[in-house]
Amino acid sequence: MASDPVVRKKLTGYVGFANLPNQVHRKSVRKGFQFTAMVVGESGLGKSTLVNTLFNTTLYPPRDPIPPSAERPQTVAIQSISADIEENGVRLRLTVVDTPGFGDFVNNDDSWKPILEDIESRFDAYLEQENRINRQKTVDNRVHACLYFIQPTGHSLKQIDIEFMRRLHQKVNLIPIIAKADTLTDEEVHSFKQRVLSDIHFHNIQIFQAPVYENEDEETLGEHEEIASKIPFAVVGSNQEVVTPDGRAVRGRAYPWGVIEVDNEEHCDFVKLRQMLVRTYMEELRERTDQVLYENWRTEKLVSLGVPQDSSVFKETNPAQRVAEERALHEQKLGKMEIEMKMVFQQKVQEKEAKLKQSEEELYARHRDMRDALEKQRSELEDKRRRLEGGRPLTPTEKTATKNTTRRFLRP
Ligand code: GDP
Repeated sequence: MASDPVVRKKLTGYVGFANLPNQVHRKSVRKGFQFTAMVVGESGLGKSTLVNTLFNTTLYPPRDPIPPSAERPQTVAIQSISADIEENGVRLRLTVVDTPGFGDFVNNDDSWKPILEDIESRFDAYLEQENRINRQKTVDNRVHACLYFIQPTGHSLKQIDIEFMRRLHQKVNLIPIIAKADTLTDEEVHSFKQRVLSDIHFHNIQIFQAPVYENEDEETLGEHEEIASKIPFAVVGSNQEVVTPDGRAVRGRAYPWGVIEVDNEEHCDFVKLRQMLVRTYMEELRERTDQVLYENWRTEKLVSLGVPQDSSVFKETNPAQRVAEERALHEQKLGKMEIEMKMVFQQKVQEKEAKLKQSEEELYARHRDMRDALEKQRSELEDKRRRLEGGRPLTPTEKTATKNTTRRFLRP
């Protein structure tokens, strides 16, 4: 079928749609944003300090010292903390999912399991909301980013790190972080990063890489490259203000040999991490969670439930068309039933006819037998009569033969 020709014209008058981005902007600001970040890593690696530093809040109150191992829980726990933060009139509902206990046991083989289950149960909850009749109040509690804290050993990734990343990279945006980078020298940080990256590459682990779009301006491309070059981010966290030798008050950590400034790009990658997570790619993280990670999980889940995934099954139709299709289907079904009934009826008639024919043949055969027997009897009687008239008595064999012929003839 030939499609209608499309008439393309260039309009020059002002209509006002250039204001569309502002409309979207205003609406988003009014609605606010939701973002859920998960932090995973052994106790004491500075997770809560970094979250507080990142969002400039005291989301995590100062922790009690780590309890002795006898008092520690024996499984990885999942704890969520939410806070509404506002910056220049933009509201963000931030949820941080903590995983205390990860990597803290003698046997850490299954440490990744409760975390994977938590991520999937959040997908489940979202799917359940999508299937509701009223989808207006959908709350997105899916994990949009997972900050994975690597111990600053300076060697390479540990088995627990590889296992965790391998198990979760298809379910969450992984952002690897080298914790407490101030405990390593610049050279150590550099070579440790290389080793971590080659381990990640070797195990085919997909960490979050911000997408690069076509026709991106040079500044954005430059920013993208700079952020990408810092992965895994070597960070230092601190909410404390310290005074630098030149008299500036900065967030950082003071040492006898000097001050490490959190917000100084020369000192650590904290600024780049914040840029990636909050300033530049928060929306990308949310989008990838929704359109890639959640979508893949959803497809797998529906396939496992036996729901057909042929897109034609889900094609949009208007109600009238759907009713017409349903009616046609129903009529098709009725027609099929009618044909089947006719076939059964014909088969029954044929069977009956065959039976009748068989009885008819049997009757004919019996009739023939009877006629032959009668004929035989008649000729025997005729013989007998002739012999009696001739004066000769019947032999015993002739007597029995005459009797049997009569019996067979009389049998029903
Ligand atoms: P968590 O158990 O992973 O949440 O770790 P915390 O944030 O509670 O930090 C544990 C300890 O490490 C605290 O004494 C922090 O002051 C300290 N700490 C946090 N971040 C850093 C860091 O970047 N460098 C250094 N040297 N210490 C840190």
